[in-house]
Amino acid sequence: MQNIVDLPEEIAKTNAKRVLIQLPEGLKRNSTEIIAAIEKSGVEVVYSIDATYGACDIRLEEARIMKCDAIVHVGHNKFYRDIKSEIPVIYWPWELESDITGAEFSGIKENVIGIITSIQHKNMMEKVKSRIEESGKTAIIGGQILGCWSGNAAKIERQVDAFLFVGSGKFHPLGIKSDKPLYTLDLETRKIEILDTKIFEKRRYASIFRARDAKSFAILVSTKEGQSELLRKAKRIKDYLQKNGKGACILVMDEINGEKLLGLQVDAYINTACPRITDGDFSKPMINATDVELLFSEVL
Ligand code: SF4
Repeated sequence: MQNIVDLPEEIAKTNAKRVLIQLPEGLKRNSTEIIAAIEKSGVEVVYSIDATYGACDIRLEEARIMKCDAIVHVGHNKFYRDIKSEIPVIYWPWELESDITGAEFSGIKENVIGIITSIQHKNMMEKVKSRIEESGKTAIIGGQILGCWSGNAAKIERQVDAFLFVGSGKFHPLGIKSDKPLYTLDLETRKIEILDTKIFEKRRYASIFRARDAKSFAILVSTKEGQSELLRKAKRIKDYLQKNGKGACILVMDEINGEKLLGLQVDAYINTACPRITDGDFSKPMINATDVELLFSEVL
C-alpha cells in the first residue's frame, strides 16, 4: 500500500513546482493531510474541488488554467485506456482498512465464490478470502473492477458459482456482465446482500423500448478526458438520426446529470460517456450509445 509520505518523492520526479490535486468525494476529509504532506516539500498545491468519479476524469484544463506542472490524481490507479496528457499525471491509489469481523458469510449459498472489488478495497481481498474459506467454501480472487470495465470478473467467471463484490454501493458491480448470482459485501454496514441485476436490465430494455417512439434525441457527450472515446460515434448517430427524419443534437458538458437536462425539448437521450450514468434517474428515456444498435437494429 502506498504511503502519503512517499508522494512528495513521486512529485519531485516530475520537477513540478505547483500541482493540481483531484480526490474522490470519499477522500475529501483527507485533503488537508494530503495538501500538508505535499506543501511541506515546497510544492504548491491547487485542489480541484469538483467531484472526481474515476481515473477517466483528469482535469487537464483546470491544471492548464492554474499553471500547474503536474496533476496528482488520488484514489484511483491509471485508467485502462490511454489518456493523452502533456501534463504529467501521478496516480496515487488510496486503500481503506475495514473491519469485517461481524460480516455474515453464511448467507452465500453457492460453493465457489469469485471476489471482486474497487481499487480502495483491494487490500481486503485476502481477508475476505480467508473468511469465505473458514465457512468451508472456495474463494477465488478476481481483482479490481470499474463501473465500465469488469475484465477481472470475466477472467474467473467460468471457475465460480457466484461473485462477491467487496466495497460499497452498486456503481461498480453493475458493470459486470454475467448471469451468475452477484452478492455485495458493504464494508460500512458489513452486510452481505444479493444484488438483483435483473431490475437494472429490465430498466435498460424499458428505456430502449420507450426511445423507439422518440422523434427527437439529445446525444450527450462529456468533456471528461477518458469518457469521450465515443465522440466519433456521437456524430455518426446524429447523422443517422437526421437521415431517418429524427431530430438530433449533440450536447456537451462535464458532468451529465438529470438536472442539467431539465427543460430540453427532446424525447430521449443517448449517452456516449460513462456507461453507469444511465443507471440514474432521468425524466426521459436515456440509453447508452453502445445500445443504439438495439434501438435501430442497425450497426452505426
Ligand atoms: S467511465 Fe465511469 S465507470 Fe469508468 S472509470 Fe470513469 S466514472 Fe468510473
